[in-house]
Amino acid sequence: MSNILLYAEVTRDNYLHTVLFELANKAQELSKKLDNAEVSALLICKTGLAELYKEAFINSGFDNVYIAEDNRFTHYSTEMYSKVAIDIIQEVKPDIMLIGATTQGRDLAPRIASSLHTGLTADCIGLDINEKGQLAATRPTFGGKLMATILCKTLPQMATVRPKVFKPASENIVKDTKFIYIKPEIDNIKKKVEFIEFVKSMNSVINELDSADIIVAGGRGMKNEAGFELLKNFAEKIGASIAASRGAVDMGLASQDIQIGQTGKTVTPKLYIACGISGAIQHIVGMNESDKIIAINTDKNAPIFEVCDCGIVADVFEILPQITDQLSKS
Ligand SMILES: Cc1cc2nc3c(=O)[nH]c(=O)nc-3n(C[C@H](O)[C@H](O)[C@H](O)COP(=O)(O)OP(=O)(O)OC[C@H]3O[C@@H](n4cnc5c(N)ncnc54)[C@H](O)[C@@H]3O)c2cc1C
Repeated sequence: MSNILLYAEVTRDNYLHTVLFELANKAQELSKKLDNAEVSALLICKTGLAELYKEAFINSGFDNVYIAEDNRFTHYSTEMYSKVAIDIIQEVKPDIMLIGATTQGRDLAPRIASSLHTGLTADCIGLDINEKGQLAATRPTFGGKLMATILCKTLPQMATVRPKVFKPASENIVKDTKFIYIKPEIDNIKKKVEFIEFVKSMNSVINELDSADIIVAGGRGMKNEAGFELLKNFAEKIGASIAASRGAVDMGLASQDIQIGQTGKTVTPKLYIACGISGAIQHIVGMNESDKIIAINTDKNAPIFEVCDCGIVADVFEILPQITDQLSKS
């Protein structure tokens, strides 16, 4: 029977990364196209944590969970995690292995793929099974100008997938999940990197875009650093994270890691407020799954107004201070 293996990333605050549940839902769809392939997870975590996650695995449609627990897994280590993953893959022989395209996943996946001499399609935004039963992994290429669907000739067929591209299942898919504990063989691993301390970058302090309920995004219409300051004050007042269009990134007003769109992040907040963003298709694809969209733009014909729930034709330099003031008073 075919087997789809998903990497269950544990976050620094000891949660299962939400991309696992997005991948789990997609894997159920792929499984049906592979005559009900088994869906398994690989969990590498510090001792005692696996117990906390069992219910989540049972409710997310996993047939098997392979668990490697050890206190040496308190912090992610490329050498140790990839060794464990490679050992389990060689044992389980999955046809497909999916990993979230997170910072950790982007480090781990190529290491596994190169050790196993298999192919890896990185940063995918679409997955399907073709008529030959192969994984068809789609990702933007040539700077986002083309979408390439890539097949892999070797096993496992590996892909990393951007968080928020797929939705988690809307209801539980309960399975009689088997939990299989593996003794990690890591005694001889020489770590090249030692974890000392985690220091948050300024951007990640103000931005947790993947999990943000409200995002305030600025575009070229914010014009200058003072404009982005306005945006930050407004975001702070409403408890929002900050994002940007590529226009703003190109102007040096925001860093690329908060760019939304085809060559940036995909986000699905409850509320997305686009300020001074025209609404180019390359931007829209990264935010149009938001529950509600508000757009502020001086140009009443701006394309962003075609995708928003509420459009405000106004100058951001006038309206944002007014709203921020009102919020301060109330
Ligand atoms: C291959 C490729 C990939 C791309 N990937 C991305 C991507 O990932 N993300 C992305 O965002 N773009 C991407 N782009 C770029 C995209 O095509 C647009 O150029 C970009 O989104 C425009 O950014 P913007 O809306 O901030 O700027 P503009 O298009 O210049 O729009 C600025 C808007 O601000 C309004 N405005 C001006 N002054 C004010 C004011 N005072 N108050 C209110 N409104 C005002 C204007 O009316 C205008 O609508 C990509 C392009 C290509 C070719």
